[in-house]
Formats: sequence, C-alpha cells, structure tokens
Amino acid sequence: MPELPEVETVRRGLAEHVAGRVIDEVTVLHPRAVRRHVAGPEDFAAALRGQRVSPPLRRGKYLWLPVADDALLAHLGMSGQLIVGEPDRELSSHTRIRFTFRDGGPDLRFIDQRTFGHLLFSVGGAQLPSVIAHIAPDPLEPAFDRTRFAARLRARRGGVKRALLDQSLISGVGNIYADEALWRARLHWARAADRLRGPDVSRLLDALQEVFAEALGVGGTSFDSLYVNVSGQSGYFDRSLAVYGREGEPCPRCGTPVRRDPFMNRSAYSCPVCQPRPRNGRT
Ligand SMILES: [Zn+2]
Repeated sequence: MPELPEVETVRRGLAEHVAGRVIDEVTVLHPRAVRRHVAGPEDFAAALRGQRVSPPLRRGKYLWLPVADDALLAHLGMSGQLIVGEPDRELSSHTRIRFTFRDGGPDLRFIDQRTFGHLLFSVGGAQLPSVIAHIAPDPLEPAFDRTRFAARLRARRGGVKRALLDQSLISGVGNIYADEALWRARLHWARAADRLRGPDVSRLLDALQEVFAEALGVGGTSFDSLYVNVSGQSGYFDRSLAVYGREGEPCPRCGTPVRRDPFMNRSAYSCPVCQPRPRNGRT
C-alpha cells in the first residue's frame, strides 16, 4: 500500500501537471471509485466540472486538490494510481474515473485494479477535508509536534509498531516504513510503547524522517509494482530496503539473517541482533 513517500511523489506530480488547470469533463466509469461520495457519481462529476484546480495538499496517505473552497480528495488504497497523459491514449480496463481539462492538454485518470482506493468531493475541504480531520499530522508536516507525539506514544499499552500504524497518532506510516524506521532506530517492533525512553522515541522519529526523505528522493517504493508516479514510473527505494520483505537475507548492519514474524495478519521484519526481542513484547 502506498505510504507517505509514494503519496507525496504523486502529489508533486499533480502539482506539476494539473494545478492551475480547469476541469472540463468528469467521467465516472466505475461507481465503486466514488463510493464514499454519498451523493453519488453524477453529483461528484457535476461538482467538479468547470472548476480550477489549486496546488494539491497532503496529510499522511491522503492527498487532495483544492477547488475553490472545496476539495477533490483521493485515497489510493492498495493499488490506486493517478496518471496524467495524452488524452487520446487508450483507456485501460482498470480506469475508474477520467478528468479532461479545458485546455485540451493531458488528462488525469484514476486507475485502480483492486478498487480499494476512492475519490470524493469534500464540501469546504480546501484547507483540510472534514473526513480526514481526525488523522494526525505526518512527520514531514511543519505542524508535527515531536513532544506531543512522544507523550501520546508513551501513553499506549501496545507495541511500538502497532502504534506507528495508527493514523490518529501519526499518519503516513505503513508496514514498509515502520519496519525500516524501527530497524534504523534499533528498536524491536514488539517493544511496549509505554516503556520507551525519551531517546528511543527521538531516535525513532529521526529514523522515520530520514527514511521518508530518502525514499522520496528516489520516487518511493514500488514493492508490489502497482505503485507508480503520475507518469506511470516506479520508484526505486525497494533497492534500499534493509529488512522489509528480506526474510533470511543478511542485515546490512551486522549480517545476521533478517527475521519475519506474523503481525496483525501481515508481517514484521527485523534483525534479531540489532533489534533484540523484549522479554514482555506486545503486539
Ligand atoms: Zn543487524
């Protein structure tokens, strides 16, 4: 699933190719793609026709295009792609929504193989759409407060990885970057959040910011090859992953084979030496 660096890469692409342009037609090819827009596909399309798109914004894994006081909000889900290209190219079978522009230039397509992603029109949502107002700031936002995050994290009863995946505590972090940041900070994923010391949290936040910045620099991670930027290109950070998806391969720091544990119906990857398992670990 796309995490912060992937969504930010898409946001930057939209800023370059779509911001400032006026939407002409909106065609919803699959109603599931606008299922969270309660007024339905027709209302969704009508609300956006003729609107000028402002520079896109992002919080965590959500991005939105402000249009006047409102917003077009996107969540890519597992496999959603926002692709900009020549308007006369063929429609792929997984195209869910198509936007054309008054200037007759490149169009914007929401393509989603597994249809877990969605778009919606948020009335009054230009600054921050109300449906994502409960989502915590992400660690690359100026509004992110390290002290407040540390206090809230250390009030948690569960393990540190579970806390990192909770978008109401910190947003933008998913399985890949949680595992990578914990490895960099030398913390086991099952460490009890309420037993972390100040320096642990500080190291973890530094690691998160660092791994996000590095991944952004190479266009994100295209681990399952579904994530691409607005031009359809993959990111390259999968080549720099230290532990995620690397069970049995040597830890880049100490050479010990990377371990995979079952975790919340998914996996947690760690180095058994760099990240010793705590005696009273918690999921
Ligand atoms: Zn190691």
